[in-house]
Amino acid sequence: MTGAVVLRGTVITMDPTRRVIDDGAVVIDGSTITSVGPRRDVVEANPGLEIRGSATDLVTPGYINGHQHLTGDRLIQSSIPDNLPPGEAIFSWVVPVHDKHTEANDELSATLSLAEALGNGITTTFEAGTIANPDRVVQAARRLGARLTVGTWGWDIDEGPFVGPVDEVLHRQRLLIQSNSGPLVTPWVCLVGHELMSDELVVGAADLARSHGVGLTFHLSPTEADPQSYLARTGKRPLVHLADLSVLGPNVAVAHAVHIDQSEIEALIQNEAAVVSCPWAYLRLGQGVSNQFRHLQFWENGGRLALGCDSENAGDMVDGIRIAALFAGLAKDVPADPIGFGAYDALELLTIRGAEALGIGDRVGSIEVGKEADIVVHDRNGVEWIPISPDPVLQLVWGADGRSVRDVYVAGSQVVADGSVLGVDLASLASEAAAASADLRRRAGIS
Ligand SMILES: [Zn+2]
Repeated sequence: MTGAVVLRGTVITMDPTRRVIDDGAVVIDGSTITSVGPRRDVVEANPGLEIRGSATDLVTPGYINGHQHLTGDRLIQSSIPDNLPPGEAIFSWVVPVHDKHTEANDELSATLSLAEALGNGITTTFEAGTIANPDRVVQAARRLGARLTVGTWGWDIDEGPFVGPVDEVLHRQRLLIQSNSGPLVTPWVCLVGHELMSDELVVGAADLARSHGVGLTFHLSPTEADPQSYLARTGKRPLVHLADLSVLGPNVAVAHAVHIDQSEIEALIQNEAAVVSCPWAYLRLGQGVSNQFRHLQFWENGGRLALGCDSENAGDMVDGIRIAALFAGLAKDVPADPIGFGAYDALELLTIRGAEALGIGDRVGSIEVGKEADIVVHDRNGVEWIPISPDPVLQLVWGADGRSVRDVYVAGSQVVADGSVLGVDLASLASEAAAASADLRRRAGIS
């Protein structure tokens, strides 16, 4: 077992029994978890291995971010005003910025976003598909060692960057599927969604994804605008319409689906389609999630649900723990029910249930023998952890965030060590990012 290591600490496994092991240990051998249990047993069964960490460490599965824009917003992060009317942030800011992105901008943007993600313990990122140069984003992910699904622009409206007729859009998606798979990178078919995809395009995209055995994602119903326009055009609610077109299936992840009704919840569940909830985006953009928190009902009915951070101007910080805490808070507060949903449930969405929802639960999402070693180590010496609670899940979700992440492993390779993201010199990227941001703002005509 040369090269195998033992990580020690309190282990939150997220295995089927949701075992939490005080004074536990995990063995990583190559890319795989080969042992997990009480430290004494693990060390005895695996003599002579390097032991890393201490009893105060908290070891968790890598976090899953189900919806993240890696390009566009990053180089103008936290810059779009938070007092714009609905839609203006997208069409006056995000689209022009994407339009002016160079290949180098795409790689730099993805590097920064993924570095923040890894530093906060997010080992798997599902990109939202708004990328002009996916090859450069894949390059960034490979350099950092992040697990990633990647797509490219897909919409067939009349005017806008990267628009095209259905055949052309699907051809671009097909090329990406054929050229970009690897051990950590998986291509997905991605559409912008909303009313920015024709029925012909979304049906073609669903066929393409199914025939290649990959996922399909698109945005839908973060506000009431999509239900209103689908009802006017088709006479049906959006997800009922898409179910009738045979678009929904177990390989489909719908981003948002905030403004949905019971018939749409049923359409999603019957077709085993997943929803990715990005609650910070809805709050930042004032989209009304706290008036009707349908994601909770979807979850209560057994829906496949994951959490997402979205973009750096819609939620901004790329930190899964922060999302989990907000989701748990909404799930308690909206129905005024402190009992139905809590920190354990939220951590499940960020780990195993998120992984299951997005089709990778057989490989990651929990610390179990035979799974790939995507593991996060929190250092509990920071002040937010003093004193350490006897319930590590409560303290992780309600009392902490990504700041205490010290070490991160993806498929057994260490990608964050002592709080530093390996594979990139962030200090030297800061001046490059400042210059790229200024140049991009000038070319896109925004302040
Ligand atoms: Zn999005």
